[in-house]
Amino acid sequence: MHAEIIAVGTEILLGQIVNTNATFVAKRLADMGIDVYFESVVGDNESRLLKEIKKADSRSDLVILIGGLGPTKDDLTKQTVAKFLGKRLIEDSKAMNKIVRYYHETGKTMTENNKLQALFIEDSIALKNETGFAVGNYFKNANGTDFLLLPGPPSEMKPMFVHQAQPILQEAYFNDHLLFSRVLRFFGIGESLLVTKLEDLIDGQTNPTIAPYAKTSEVTLRLTASSKSEDEAVNLLDQLELEIAKRVGEFMYGYGDDNSLVAVIVEQLKKKKLTISAAESLTAGEFQSTLGSISGVSEVFLGGVVTYSNKAKEQLLNVSHDTLLNKGAVSEETAKEMATSVRTKLGTDIGISFTGVAGPTELEGQPVGTVWIGLSIKGKETTAKLYHFSSNRYLVRERAVLSGLDYIRK
Ligand code: ATP
Ligand code: MG
Repeated sequence: MHAEIIAVGTEILLGQIVNTNATFVAKRLADMGIDVYFESVVGDNESRLLKEIKKADSRSDLVILIGGLGPTKDDLTKQTVAKFLGKRLIEDSKAMNKIVRYYHETGKTMTENNKLQALFIEDSIALKNETGFAVGNYFKNANGTDFLLLPGPPSEMKPMFVHQAQPILQEAYFNDHLLFSRVLRFFGIGESLLVTKLEDLIDGQTNPTIAPYAKTSEVTLRLTASSKSEDEAVNLLDQLELEIAKRVGEFMYGYGDDNSLVAVIVEQLKKKKLTISAAESLTAGEFQSTLGSISGVSEVFLGGVVTYSNKAKEQLLNVSHDTLLNKGAVSEETAKEMATSVRTKLGTDIGISFTGVAGPTELEGQPVGTVWIGLSIKGKETTAKLYHFSSNRYLVRERAVLSGLDYIRK
């Protein structure tokens, strides 16, 4: 089952609007376990649209066209698909009544072309438009490619997709099977390496399917099992997760769509009733701000300092002058002193520190991306870890923050 998305609209080709519709639909199809193999954009032009439709018809099982269902002359999608299929357009009486009623109630004059919006391809299912007038279409082709037509305005497309199209697709392609998903979250391993390590599983696996997704520094895998029984699906997901954990388990930190690394760490600290404080140089408060984005973090996060300059490190954290002079601000010793100092000053269980070179130029002879993270835990010897992030200032800081969270996790 391979789907393809075609966004129709010259505005997209001109760069005037971003193709958010395709993103929205693609994500939901992935969630359903429907693979999208192609995505394209074509302008409001009948012959080029027809070419795209022919190509899509030849290579995909389901073609989703978005946009061009409106009343104006450049809205051609429905007419062109109907022509391609050799079908007529017929009227959806409910949609027509809605349009007539609207013009009657508002006292506006209804032009003939407004009625176009109530037309749908014969032998297809007309999809109700909750927030507009143009009906959608789902054409199931008994021995060929299926077509789904959706309106362009996101405010119309989204509810139509979720409320009308999704249940139809579910029934059409998965019968009475239900889909069960599990999201595994990883940190400290890049998407390409993760995918390489799981290549045979990703390629060979049909149930459950595996869909990787990368967001700057975190990678998720969505496992989707299709089954008639939840028990069986859970079993399938468990087995696959076990195999994945064997290979890359050390990088896995949690589950779920929204459970970012910081959310997981805060949850852990709460469970263990551990408090934390932070001393930040290159991250300049970004670590603490990240903690602050989690509601209820006040239970575990007491506060910290931003000590950007050596002076601040000495005066606010009593980092020794000798250390700064002889070892440098970006050094193991400084990181440790910062972490220990902030922890004892605030009396927390954990103190974490960040010192490094965010860029754009090197510092103390150390290249951009060099970062020391110090970790002081009550009753244990303070440790520090050296990282080399090879990227721009923004990413160095972000990676430092996430690596700090990962450091606490381990
Ligand atoms: P209308 O009845 O408004 O004409 P339509 O189905 O004909 O709807 P289009 O004319 O293609 O849709 O697009 C209408 C508007 O919807 C665009 O001006 C744009 O704001 C938005 N839109 C269209 N396509 C997309 C897309 N792929 N991503 C995001 N927004 C889009
Ligand atoms: Mg239009």
